[in-house]
Amino acid sequence: MIIIGAGIVGASFAYHAYKNGVDKITVLSSHLPGDMNQATSNTWGWVNGYASNDKSYANFRLANLNYWPKLINYISNFNYTSKGAFIWDQGEKELQKTIKQHQSWGQSVKISTKSELKKYLPNLNNIPTMAGFGVDDLAIDGVRATKELFKASGSKILKTNVKEIICDSNNVSGVKTDDEIINDNEVILTAGLGAPKLLSTINIPFEMHSSLGLLVYTKPLPQLLKYPITGFDFHARQDDKGRLIIGGKFDDDSSQEENIKGAAKKLIQDMATRLNYNGNMILDHFTLGKRPLPVDGRPKIGRLVNKKGEKLNGIYLAVMHSGITNAPLAGKFGIDEVLSGKRNNLIRNFSPQKTDTQEEFLNV
Ligand SMILES: Cc1cc2nc3c(=O)[nH]c(=O)nc-3n(C[C@H](O)[C@H](O)[C@H](O)COP(=O)(O)OP(=O)(O)OC[C@H]3O[C@@H](n4cnc5c(N)ncnc54)[C@H](O)[C@@H]3O)c2cc1C
Repeated sequence: MIIIGAGIVGASFAYHAYKNGVDKITVLSSHLPGDMNQATSNTWGWVNGYASNDKSYANFRLANLNYWPKLINYISNFNYTSKGAFIWDQGEKELQKTIKQHQSWGQSVKISTKSELKKYLPNLNNIPTMAGFGVDDLAIDGVRATKELFKASGSKILKTNVKEIICDSNNVSGVKTDDEIINDNEVILTAGLGAPKLLSTINIPFEMHSSLGLLVYTKPLPQLLKYPITGFDFHARQDDKGRLIIGGKFDDDSSQEENIKGAAKKLIQDMATRLNYNGNMILDHFTLGKRPLPVDGRPKIGRLVNKKGEKLNGIYLAVMHSGITNAPLAGKFGIDEVLSGKRNNLIRNFSPQKTDTQEEFLNV
């Protein structure tokens, strides 16, 4: 099996392929975990179940939330850095509605009162009147998780650019890299934002969007935040090295920002006013990551068809935003489908070449 792309999604496919007895897995990737050119290296790492007004996507996210701890148990040398997360990035009424909706879908979320927030976030200066609390939310170091999954999979990983997918009469038979041709009758495409270009080499139009996410890292600090927090115009969490990882408004696009360094410094200055800490908060570094965004916001996972609607054999696509949340079951169910042909119900609505409205329409 060939896997194109060594981010968290490729790692999950490699791990689950190995668990299902695939013994020869070759991963081809122009960038490796830790290289700044992949989304996984620039992630905030919040695993959560929120997907307001989209039950099938929320179901999938929730299933991932439940599966992550099991996956962590299977792989050695890895753990989450925190459990539970607070959100107050909406007005009170809207927030209550969001929490109620997700509770009714089975997610373990609740409203925390001001006095509870004072207890759980003792170093926060301006305590909001209420916040949502995702009990099972996790914070994950994306690069470490990816490396450990690859390690556990025993894959052969080659740092190389794939130029072309080789396909003849609707059968994919391998890939052409910058250096060589590699033949295999199963190619898994987990190339994030590189997927559209690779699919164009086999005449499959596939559109993705992208936005730029800025995150700043401080030098290590004493414990100030036990839980990740997401307010109206900021999000922050503290990692296991004591560094605060701070962003602006959640999912903000920084691509129009003219002075990125200035914006990075401001994120830290603003956070310093929010937290009760008398020492200096010093900028360690900042990251700028491109989010891989499928056009309707939902993951795209599955087999492909050509322009005539004929099925292509030997290729399987998995691209998504919120890949840190979604990768575990994208990989598990994806590999199940590749090996058995059976498609899990939880990914039923995420076919790569259909949008959400088409999917819901087909399911009526
Ligand atoms: C700022 C930011 C914050 C985020 N926060 C969160 C969060 O809190 N929670 C969450 O769940 N998600 C979050 N995400 C999203 C998440 O990080 C991504 O969805 C996830 O990392 C995507 O993983 P991937 O493996 O699909 O893609 P990537 O990590 O981008 O990996 C794709 C790989 O494919 C390789 N590739 C591409 N084209 C080719 C080619 N032609 N040949 C060879 N290799 C190729 C690339 O080199 C790359 O290594 C965030 C993303 C960003 C940018």
